[in-house]
Amino acid sequence: MNIDQAECGNLSELSALLGQQLDAYLKFESPDAMRHPETWRGALDRPLPEQGVGAAGVLSELSEWVIPNGSQIPRPGCTSFITTGATTMGALATLAGAIASPQRMGLTAFNLLEEVSLDWMARMFDLPADMKGVYSSGGSVANLVALGGARQAAFEAIGIDPARDGVSRPCRIFASAECHHSVQRAAAVLGMGRQSVCKVATDDQGRMRPDALKQQLREDQQSDRLPVAVVANAGSTNRGAIDPLRVIGDIAKAHGLWFHVDGAYGLPGILDPRVAPLYDGLELADSTIVDPHKWLGAPVGIGATYVRDRELLNRAFTQEAATYLEGSLIGEGITHSMDNLGIPYADMGVELSAPARGTVVWALIREIGLEGMRERICRHNDMARHVAERVQAHPNLELVSAPTLSIIGFRYIDENEPDLNELNRKIHRRMVQRGNAIPSTTVVNGILAIRPCFVGARTTMKEADELVDEALSAGQYLTTTTNEIAEQR
Ligand SMILES: *Cc1c(COP(=O)(O)O)cnc(C)c1O
Repeated sequence: MNIDQAECGNLSELSALLGQQLDAYLKFESPDAMRHPETWRGALDRPLPEQGVGAAGVLSELSEWVIPNGSQIPRPGCTSFITTGATTMGALATLAGAIASPQRMGLTAFNLLEEVSLDWMARMFDLPADMKGVYSSGGSVANLVALGGARQAAFEAIGIDPARDGVSRPCRIFASAECHHSVQRAAAVLGMGRQSVCKVATDDQGRMRPDALKQQLREDQQSDRLPVAVVANAGSTNRGAIDPLRVIGDIAKAHGLWFHVDGAYGLPGILDPRVAPLYDGLELADSTIVDPHKWLGAPVGIGATYVRDRELLNRAFTQEAATYLEGSLIGEGITHSMDNLGIPYADMGVELSAPARGTVVWALIREIGLEGMRERICRHNDMARHVAERVQAHPNLELVSAPTLSIIGFRYIDENEPDLNELNRKIHRRMVQRGNAIPSTTVVNGILAIRPCFVGARTTMKEADELVDEALSAGQYLTTTTNEIAEQR
């Protein structure tokens, strides 16, 4: 039998079946995948099948082996890293795009929502009116696209087109010492090298120090390096620090440098009126990024870069015209959605084929509105503050980094314990093993901190309290001598 039997319809029936399985998964009653890895691994890691099992067969394997052994990340109590599960509308809009608009290009409703949703986010986060966006797969690529713009601007200013001719001079990017490591990779991919990223010292709250930036810029004037950009954080990954954007932006401007603000996680924080003033100066940015797949609850795979001049991105990322692509298009007399690609997003980044991510972001915002988003951001920021209060009120807990947004660092302390980092590492391991509260850890000034980040739409104050309770009970358990000996066995 050699017939292509791929099911190409029947979505109502099959997705209803899948929906039942996913609803069951969302009860989070299955044991973690690593409790019995041999069972599902054996069922899934099979030789390449000569014959298919059909759609029903695949659905049954998905239901039996794959979904129940999925990720812990969507759990309300999972506060690791900066990641969460998609909301239902985020997932369904993704499905809608996969079926009804496989590409963002073409003059379709999906293509229109690409621009509508980018503009909605720009308004939501109070970006300058002339800032326009482009989607990519996430913050790392969004940073790459922004820094591609910075590189283009810096080289064009000295009469070179780096996208066409390559990077002919050593470069310099001045970034907060707390910047996300994707900034280094972006520099590498853009041909400037990781070494071009100069880490500017931060203060005790993890914010870039303007005096240190000035000092670096002064020192660099002696070198032959081409200064390309200053990269600041609006919500650092480690502790949610927001750099003094106005002061840093002014310094960047005074030196004629591109000012990039990484808001992958923290840009939505501007919706919380208590912290909104910390974003003062955001309007100085030449580029900024945000990850809808973090705080907005989109499925992973959606980042956005904003710049003032998308033409610049076009020059930075053009592949030059291709007969097999632009050859099929017309500019005038358009009457069919396949007559034109619409806004040429593909030339403003590194992807040609790309899903219609805008429809997902549109759906998320349309569902709960600005009001709903604001409630979520404020709720999560409240939760971090609540954890901080409980930490400060308990003799066995200590604040390591106070929350600016929804990230907080704290640790368990015990005067009889010689190595608190080791103790907190064990506490963290025990919390993860128990699985009710799953934070991650970080190190701040040599101190190992338990570091939850609240971004999940499912995560509420109840989980904030559970997290503190779990840390306390793990700490108490591990500092009781007999238990510690048991643990070491
Ligand atoms: C998460 C994050 C990134 C990287 O985003 P990905 O979507 O994981 O690629 C970049 N910068 C900051 C500040 C982040 O928090």
